[in-house]
Amino acid sequence: VQLRDLKTHKNLDGIESGDIGPTMGLIGCEEGWCRFEHVKIPLVALLARYGHVNPQGDWIPPTKLGSKRSYATMLLVRARFVAISSDFLGKAASIAVRYCAVRRQFKDNNGREKQVLDYQQVQMRTLPWVGLSYALKATGVTMMTMHREMEARVELHGDIIALAMEKEVHIVGSCLKAVCTTFAVDGIEELRRVCGGYGYSVFSGFQDLYGNAMVNFTGEGENYMIIQQASSALLKVYKSMIETGIHQVPSPNFAFIKPLAHLPKFKTGSDFMTMSLEDFVAVFEFRTVCLLAHNVEENSQWDGIQAAWAFGELLIVRSFALHVQRSDPKIIPILTVLCRLVAMYLMNMHMNDYLLYGYMQPADGIAISMGLKKLLLVVRPEAVSLVDCFGFTDRELNSALGNYDGNVYETLLEWAKLDPMNQTPVVEGFDEFYGKVLHEGRGALQKMGKDIEKIDGIIQRRANL
Ligand SMILES: Cc1cc2nc3c(=O)[nH]c(=O)nc-3n(C[C@H](O)[C@H](O)[C@H](O)COP(=O)(O)OP(=O)(O)OC[C@H]3O[C@@H](n4cnc5c(N)ncnc54)[C@H](O)[C@@H]3O)c2cc1C
Repeated sequence: VQLRDLKTHKNLDGIESGDIGPTMGLIGCEEGWCRFEHVKIPLVALLARYGHVNPQGDWIPPTKLGSKRSYATMLLVRARFVAISSDFLGKAASIAVRYCAVRRQFKDNNGREKQVLDYQQVQMRTLPWVGLSYALKATGVTMMTMHREMEARVELHGDIIALAMEKEVHIVGSCLKAVCTTFAVDGIEELRRVCGGYGYSVFSGFQDLYGNAMVNFTGEGENYMIIQQASSALLKVYKSMIETGIHQVPSPNFAFIKPLAHLPKFKTGSDFMTMSLEDFVAVFEFRTVCLLAHNVEENSQWDGIQAAWAFGELLIVRSFALHVQRSDPKIIPILTVLCRLVAMYLMNMHMNDYLLYGYMQPADGIAISMGLKKLLLVVRPEAVSLVDCFGFTDRELNSALGNYDGNVYETLLEWAKLDPMNQTPVVEGFDEFYGKVLHEGRGALQKMGKDIEKIDGIIQRRANL
């Protein structure tokens, strides 16, 4: 719709518009408001591919496939949100890992200051997010492939299979959009905090990263809203399987939904350091089915969301495991370690579920917690190389803490010198404001007979100290 006059750039008659004000991120993309009064929108401007209005003004509804197609753009945008979550998280991980490798605090037994990345608590707050950046990269590729295959089927056949594929992309995409973008923003904030005081500086680059990633949490359906599309679909599949006794799954992504008794039991005392990635995937499948089974009677909104969240984590771990197996044999060992790290980090986070449903024993919980810490030590020597592999340029990171050369403090000083306040020997406005107050104060003291020279001398001596 044409809003403004092409020559004067003023709004056309009947149209009011404006900016809605500053947002947390996306500063290059303004959000606006618009109001129309008695404005006719030309038929060519309707952008209606499947349903349309004819010149007589009648609404011609879309076909069944067409009506599904009308939200195809949303499916693509959500799939892209999944794919770019890895970039947001990977950038934050690059900044934090590089900075924590440069930053040193407190001496070790040899009298040398330790890199903060060698502290266990710093590793626990950084390295799982490195693993998750890789996991989200794999998940993004899986999601975009699913979307492309669905689009091809729709374009070529437009049949019932195309419809089923579209439904699957909708459910999986809604779930992964919520889970992956949440991991991205949670990870950015944790990685910012781990950088200490400089993480709070705008020069760290975290502010833009967080603001820009946050829009993906809220936009295209707020995460806790949109994930309910997945929770209701999953519950429907589970309920119908229980009620009919028939295991009819709409797609391979839901094939794991079986009666609990049919799922493989967990072998208590398993060695998590050598357990296969397929076995880790089975652990995530079990948790999802448990949460679904638990929610059948209660049908609680919150518990349904937890089941869908578990499904999202399952898809991420499964996708990562598949990509690891297909990788260059030379990098399979380190990727396997990363995949285990991600799986155990998430299992540790949700240990209460595994214990609550009797899937694992407390000893297994302890083994996971201990294994997780051992894995951190395996990943630590590779950490900088692992983030270098993302290949973000200094320009893309836009962070004094995360530059490839590691010259953190030189860059911080260089950037600080560019601050407008640092461009003149005396800050602009001094004479009009602070200087004026000082001048008036001196005048008042003089009137009171105080020795201004003496007071100025004290101030001067203090400044020289
Ligand atoms: C930068 C930006 C750009 C955007 N661009 C576009 C755009 O181009 N086009 C467009 O159409 N939209 C756009 N949006 C809108 C965006 O899609 C919505 O803001 C988003 O879907 C959330 O909806 P809402 O703001 O109405 O939140 P609300 O629905 O008001 O949500 C508020 C809270 O209530 C909860 N809630 C709401 N309903 C329920 C329910 N039924 N059950 C349980 N909880 C519920 C939510 O989880 C949330 O926590 C944009 C938003 C942003 C921030």
